[in-house]
Amino acid sequence: MARRYYMDFFEKLGETISTKSKDVAKKAKEVAEVVSLNAKISTQEDIIKKTYAQIGQKYYEKYKEDSFNEFGAEFDSINHAMEEIKRLQDEIQTIKNTKICPKCQEEVPTDSAFCSKCGAQFEAESQESEKAPQEDRNNDKVSEEEQPEVNDDVII
Ligand SMILES: [Zn+2]
Repeated sequence: MARRYYMDFFEKLGETISTKSKDVAKKAKEVAEVVSLNAKISTQEDIIKKTYAQIGQKYYEKYKEDSFNEFGAEFDSINHAMEEIKRLQDEIQTIKNTKICPKCQEEVPTDSAFCSKCGAQFEAESQESEKAPQEDRNNDKVSEEEQPEVNDDVII
């Protein structure tokens, strides 16, 4: 009797274990399938997000000059961020003592006369800054000469 009892017991135990391990395997497979499907959903969501951004960028490029656009506030936000990026990039250039080639965007030493990548010739900045103020001064002189008729110091 006792022997029979143990046999039944172990048979039942064996059945329980195999059922349990089948359940575990089934669960693991389900989890793996769900993980895989969620990854595929993420991929599609990324495509949507990227495409939304592309539409937004195209729209911005098309209507950024339109000052009465319904997305004016968003345009301002983008413009402000772009200006900030430019300012921060300039700061980096100053720290590294480099400048950006206006033709190919290569970073080159500030004092270089040519771009090392595309060969573009840079206008000497010192000449530019000397020329411009002189022209301004001449313009100021002309306007000053035209003005003397009006003299606020003389009170009649
Ligand atoms: Zn260049």
